[in-house]
Amino acid sequence: MTKFRLKLSLLFLLLIGISVLAAGLLSGHYYRQNHQEALRENMVRELKLLNLTAPWPSADDRASLKDELHRRALGLKQAAEMRVTYILPDGTVAGDSDHSESTMDNHSGRPEIRQALQAGIGSSVRRSDTLQENMMYVAMAVKDDGGNLLGFIRLSMSLDAVSGGLNDMWAALVFSLFLLFALAAAVSYRLAQSVTRPLERMTSAAERMSQMDYAIRVPEGGRDEIGALARALNRMAANLQEQLDLIRRNGERLQDVLDNMPSGVVMIGDDGRVTLYNRQAEALLGSSSRERVGRPYAEIRQHVELTSWIREGLETREPQYREMQVYYPDERLLQLSVIPMTLSGGSQPGLLLVLQDVTAIRRLENMRSEFVANVSHELKTPVAAVKGFAETLLAGALDDRETARSFLTIIHDESERLNRLIGDILELSKIESRRSPLQFSPIDLGAFLGRMNELVAPEAAKKRIALDLRAEEGLFLEADEDRLGQILLNLLQNGINYTPEGGRVQVRAETVPSEDEDGTERVRITVSDTGIGIPKKDIPRIFERFYRVDKARSRSSGGTGLGLSIVKHLVELHHGSIRVESEPGAGSRFIIELPLLQP
Ligand code: ADP
Repeated sequence: MTKFRLKLSLLFLLLIGISVLAAGLLSGHYYRQNHQEALRENMVRELKLLNLTAPWPSADDRASLKDELHRRALGLKQAAEMRVTYILPDGTVAGDSDHSESTMDNHSGRPEIRQALQAGIGSSVRRSDTLQENMMYVAMAVKDDGGNLLGFIRLSMSLDAVSGGLNDMWAALVFSLFLLFALAAAVSYRLAQSVTRPLERMTSAAERMSQMDYAIRVPEGGRDEIGALARALNRMAANLQEQLDLIRRNGERLQDVLDNMPSGVVMIGDDGRVTLYNRQAEALLGSSSRERVGRPYAEIRQHVELTSWIREGLETREPQYREMQVYYPDERLLQLSVIPMTLSGGSQPGLLLVLQDVTAIRRLENMRSEFVANVSHELKTPVAAVKGFAETLLAGALDDRETARSFLTIIHDESERLNRLIGDILELSKIESRRSPLQFSPIDLGAFLGRMNELVAPEAAKKRIALDLRAEEGLFLEADEDRLGQILLNLLQNGINYTPEGGRVQVRAETVPSEDEDGTERVRITVSDTGIGIPKKDIPRIFERFYRVDKARSRSSGGTGLGLSIVKHLVELHHGSIRVESEPGAGSRFIIELPLLQP
């Protein structure tokens, strides 16, 4: 850029130099011309004066005329300080102040004489042959009263003598021109700087912009073209910045969408390199996008199945939908869609993999079908019993009253069981599907436990089991009374069922200080017995549907295996929790905690 400034200054200097030189030459020329003109006029005046003050001598003969003119020329030279020459009409030099007339040739051919002959006055500037100097000659024709030509007077002066003044003038001119030139040079440098400095700034700004720094701005300056350029540059930078921000925001939005998707998304370029690996893919396949993006897919070694499907997808370019079991980083069942795609550029088709975790869905589906199988199985047993005993009765056992009676009792019990089972199944599905919402109301727990006691007392009395149900004084709880009754009855019946004769079943209801941050008070209801207890390994499973520790025992006691799973569901619908502590042979404690007030 400084090169440009130098060039610009040099150009300015050249222009100024040429104009200064031209001005010098012209003014020199005119000065010289004026000077010569003034000199010539002066000499003409002097000639006229001379002619008036010293008229042409009248001599009889040519020799004495010459003599007289010679003397007069010498005399005048002293006064006028100029060379004076008298010339006769035929061109003969009659008298000369500086030379001997005899050595001088005929002057009739001299330009000033020829002019004077025609116009009265003549002048000429030339080099004198005699003096070897630049001379100005001015001649005047002298005539008598009758108009006859008497001769010529000529004055001549060396121009070299006057050129001393001209040289001084030249020196002054050159000096002042030089000053002017120096001044102009400084001004032009400043001017060039004022042009190039903003250009330099703009160049560096443009360079910064090419490195994607669009925050840079240049000073906008005046209203001239450079200012306009600066403004245009700033506008361009602002626009680019805006565009870039937009692109960045769009990119971020897209990234956010991809990262927050519940599906894993992986993109593979045609060259087999991973081009995208979203957050969910990281979670499902267990490596970070930083490790994967830009690397070949074949490096995903933990999932051999996946890589072989990718290879197949790249080769066949057919969409595929599959499920695959992965064991890393966790055991999961993934649904995989391999979709060949065309990128918007069109040239580089790749593969899009979409991964979905279907572990929970499959587990639920399995549970459903398992449940159906269990239900069928559970139903089959009492139905088979009813059918078998009825057939036996029909086959003749009816005649034996005793046998018939016992068989009919079994049929009755089994149909009871069947009824209970169907009732429990319906209940469970009702609770699970949340078809009937809970009706919360404040319940006086003291009175409530009294009613429960009455309901189970006959059963307990049959097994001589002591019942002890007690609530804290004046304890109220917000709950659905029927459902809470279901919970308590199930637990009490279990307690009575799984406790040998002479045992004890206890219920305690009390408030417990909250452990939660929200500070809601909780009510703890503990149902404990002195029964057979539950082995440690079975504890995690007893809330599952149809799970029983001892199938035969449960059946003989009329259990369906659904009671605890109904209890757990109902407790959860009350936003509570249930856990169990048990010691085989010593007894079990079912501990329920419910919020005092429903949220
Ligand atoms: P069931 O109808 O068989 O009682 P539940 O779902 O109520 O079914 O209980 C599941 C299993 O948990 C029971 O079969 C039993 O083995 C065990 N169980 C439940 N309550 C008790 C308890 N109080 N003492 C010992 N075992 C219990």
